[in-house]
Amino acid sequence: MQPDTRVVHTEVPALTSTPLSVPLYQTSGFSFTDLDAFADGMTRPDGAFVYTRFGNPTVRALEDAVAGLEGGTAALATASGMGAINAVLLAHLAAGDHVIAQRALYGGTLALLGDLERRWGVTVTYVGGHDPEEVRAARRPETRVLYLETIANPTGHVSDLPALAEAAGDDVLTVVDNTFASPLLCRPIEHGADVVVHSATKYLGGHSDVTGGVAVFADDDRYRETWRHSVELGVTPDPFAAWLTLRGLRTLALRVRAHERNAEVLARRLAGHPAVRAVHWPGLDTHPSHTVAKRLLDGYGSTFSFDLADAEAGRRFVTALELVRLAPSLGGPETLVLHPASTSHRQLDDGQLAAGGITGGTIRLSVGIEDADDLWHDVSRALDR
Ligand code: PLP
Repeated sequence: MQPDTRVVHTEVPALTSTPLSVPLYQTSGFSFTDLDAFADGMTRPDGAFVYTRFGNPTVRALEDAVAGLEGGTAALATASGMGAINAVLLAHLAAGDHVIAQRALYGGTLALLGDLERRWGVTVTYVGGHDPEEVRAARRPETRVLYLETIANPTGHVSDLPALAEAAGDDVLTVVDNTFASPLLCRPIEHGADVVVHSATKYLGGHSDVTGGVAVFADDDRYRETWRHSVELGVTPDPFAAWLTLRGLRTLALRVRAHERNAEVLARRLAGHPAVRAVHWPGLDTHPSHTVAKRLLDGYGSTFSFDLADAEAGRRFVTALELVRLAPSLGGPETLVLHPASTSHRQLDDGQLAAGGITGGTIRLSVGIEDADDLWHDVSRALDR
């Protein structure tokens, strides 16, 4: 072969040993010697890998890892958490269907539910998330989905998953966003969920360097249905994003515990500070979800909110911090702060903010893994200012 040909056709080495970390298959497609295997691979997620939008070995390693952690049969990795939520909801809803959703949810999810109502002919009933009777009363013949968050963003509300899933009934798909808990603190499928969604951008990736999502399914048919739809939707992650998430996942257990140790220190000290009206960390026995959290979770998480007097105090606090950075997202090594009413939940009107437990003075902290006293020094100095 001439050099012009050789440079194009680099051989992929065949292995006789197993790499210690999952290799990055940074390829958009795969070649075949068998046309039938090629055609078959396009019809199902467990055929041969054909095209990365349909499946990729690096992405599959991430899907299998998270499915295993969550106790699901299979998982679908996506390009973002919102990609996972969209893939699941759009694969299971049609015009005329009804959704029951918890009132306190991530702002992006609430915005999506609002769009589904306005433009797609889906109706949504919001419930508090404490009372199974409220879910039972909201049920209609056309109810298809019950949508919950394990630890709600940003109020730390913990839904009674088994009671609510049971109240929704077997024919309703219970979808639980487990981003704030991670599978180390809660595995919603064990508590009756049918689908678990994650923003892998947060604790799963864990290093503030990748955007991704995962949906985990208790049932294989639901998985296949969503896979088919996701191929059309095009929400597949790039293999490098999946690889970064896999790399982060290896230290998830260490990170989650370190985050939570710091969160407890800050939550307890904040609760004793005169400028703080309330602290919404479910590990405190004053939190309305404390009892449910103790029963369902193996820890209380490390992203939580607290309330200052008003919006002006909130704005002054977030810009007075020096070590803690004013930024979106959560679950990375560095401690981040944001003002939900003007950022993560900006799409909500005053009524929706109040229903979600968010005031102008509400501040959200994603507590990192720095030294706890350094963090408190920065937070208390900003509070004093
Ligand atoms: N779910 C929760 C609880 C979130 O906090 C977020 C983002 O902040 C998302 C989903 C969306 O994830 P992503 O930003 O990866 O699309």
